[in-house]
Amino acid sequence: MRLRVQGLYVMDASKRSAHGNAYFTGFGKAKRIVFFDTLLEKHTLDEIESILAHELGHFKFGHVRQMILQAAIIAFIGFAALYWAFGSETFAGWFGLPHDPGVVLIALLFAKEPVSHLLHPLLAARSRKNEFEADDFARRIVGKEPMISALTRLTRDNLATLTPDPLYAKFYFSHPPVPMRVAQLRGAVEA
Ligand SMILES: [Zn+2]
Repeated sequence: MRLRVQGLYVMDASKRSAHGNAYFTGFGKAKRIVFFDTLLEKHTLDEIESILAHELGHFKFGHVRQMILQAAIIAFIGFAALYWAFGSETFAGWFGLPHDPGVVLIALLFAKEPVSHLLHPLLAARSRKNEFEADDFARRIVGKEPMISALTRLTRDNLATLTPDPLYAKFYFSHPPVPMRVAQLRGAVEA
């Protein structure tokens, strides 16, 4: 795999909080990896390597592009729905309301919440799948132990709960709970 990035950035996150994190962003020539300075300070070299490998995994599997595309599709559908709701009497009719732009706008604002609520678990599930894939990629590059200790340290520093309610996590979490990620890494057959 070959990767050209515009840069490896360090963000002065310590000025804002003690949370440690890293992310991959942009596409084409503007790809960049961003590390929080807090992450570089608190982790061992092995752990930082595993986090970098995890982020590279997201790149390798096209997750960043996938997320941007997904946001574009959702925006397109959203605008098409707006166009339709303002242009036809059907939408206002569903709510027994007159077809008036002001009324349609208010009805749309009410309708938006349940729709995005229903969409959320689908998007969160896809994102969790991506996290497992990136973890597995990191495991194959640097081995499972650095990734496991990086994940454990991140969770402790970010004060995230290790035992979220499974149903709540399935609905809301964009990242799988760390014990699940650790179990997945431990269970993987070393290649
Ligand atoms: Zn990730």
